[in-house]
Amino acid sequence: MRGEMPDYYIWTIGCQMNKAESERLGSFFEHLGYRPTDAAENADVIVLNSCVVRQSAENRVVNKIRALQSFARAHPGATLAVTGCLVNSDTTRLKKEFPHVDYFFKPGDCPPWLEKPEAILALPQRPSPATYVTIIQGCDNFCSYCIVPYRRGREVSRTISEIACEVKELVRRGVKEVTLLGQNVDSYGHDLPDKPDLADLLEELNKIDGLVRIRFLTNHPKDMSDKLIGAIARLDRVCEWISLPVQSGSDDILKLMRRGYTAAQYRQMVKRIRDTVPGVALSTDIIVGFPSETEAQFQETVNLLAALRFDTVHVAVYSPRPGTSASRELEDDIPAAVKRERLNIIEQLQEKIAAEINGQLLGTMAEILVESRVKDKWQGRTRTGKLVFFEDSRDFLGKLVSVRIEKTSPWSLQGTVDTSK
Ligand code: SF4
Repeated sequence: MRGEMPDYYIWTIGCQMNKAESERLGSFFEHLGYRPTDAAENADVIVLNSCVVRQSAENRVVNKIRALQSFARAHPGATLAVTGCLVNSDTTRLKKEFPHVDYFFKPGDCPPWLEKPEAILALPQRPSPATYVTIIQGCDNFCSYCIVPYRRGREVSRTISEIACEVKELVRRGVKEVTLLGQNVDSYGHDLPDKPDLADLLEELNKIDGLVRIRFLTNHPKDMSDKLIGAIARLDRVCEWISLPVQSGSDDILKLMRRGYTAAQYRQMVKRIRDTVPGVALSTDIIVGFPSETEAQFQETVNLLAALRFDTVHVAVYSPRPGTSASRELEDDIPAAVKRERLNIIEQLQEKIAAEINGQLLGTMAEILVESRVKDKWQGRTRTGKLVFFEDSRDFLGKLVSVRIEKTSPWSLQGTVDTSK
């Protein structure tokens, strides 16, 4: 401790929910007078925010916890805590395995050594113009390959009033865009007394003065309702950008994945979205090399991607996650080289599609919310989630600007700001 108050260090891996959670924890500590430090060795309080979605991530977390054993011995007064997906409701096993860890607490909970749980709502003093707000924790879906429901537990939604209150405060502190987060945002609210849904929440947030954009992720194709699609089309601040993971184009593989929809149902949903929300950009996720995936089944995925032409595709190779039903019941029988080849095929296809889609934007004007400056370039996004860079010496942070697109690539756009309007 360099001064009166403790120094804290937060180590984070994993998804945007973890990043948002760490930001919230950091603000909470600072609200209480703690100061941030860049290195665990200098900290009085260390929090590891863990991810276990892949075995490799869990291994990194475990290595990190073990690496801090000698630190804990040398600094008996320091506090070492672990949160995130490694921590489920029964921490007995974890306490036994890592006795040098002082506390394990579940994502979203207040650090147990502090006595002001209401202060968990402390928000960043200087938030990014585009920031994240968690609206639902956990997942009830149990896709066969996914560990999240076992670790994050069942779905728990925050109330609309609590979320609206937080967003209003963020806007007061300079935020222009919020991305609402959850493992499955489409099931938001079913566990609350009045059973509001995501469309109701969007309706409420859309009224907040000063908030210019709203996004949300991740959607589940089986739970996305027509009411929600209608709300996206109708509400002016809700962006025309939807993340809708399909995972595979083969019905047999979708069944083994326990996704709860067919490829045809997914295609119909995309059609409904495109018919209802003009100019919408779509993003999806794919897993290749799922157990027993044949060449023909893989080709069905390729065909689906070629037909639906997404703006963005995130593709991953399957790797068995211990603790899931897929890892227990299905043999990981696709050779690594075949998985890699399938990954390459999809990446190349998507690069071509994204280049064509983005190429159509050449010479057009795009409205950008400027989020940050990286090296000499301002960086922001369109309402449709396209990453745009431009050079300009003036200060545009947090501003909505009009940019003429002069260069495009599959991954981003470049242009010149037009301040004449
Ligand atoms: S919807 Fe499926 S993949 Fe997503 S978190 Fe839930 S179980 Fe995992």
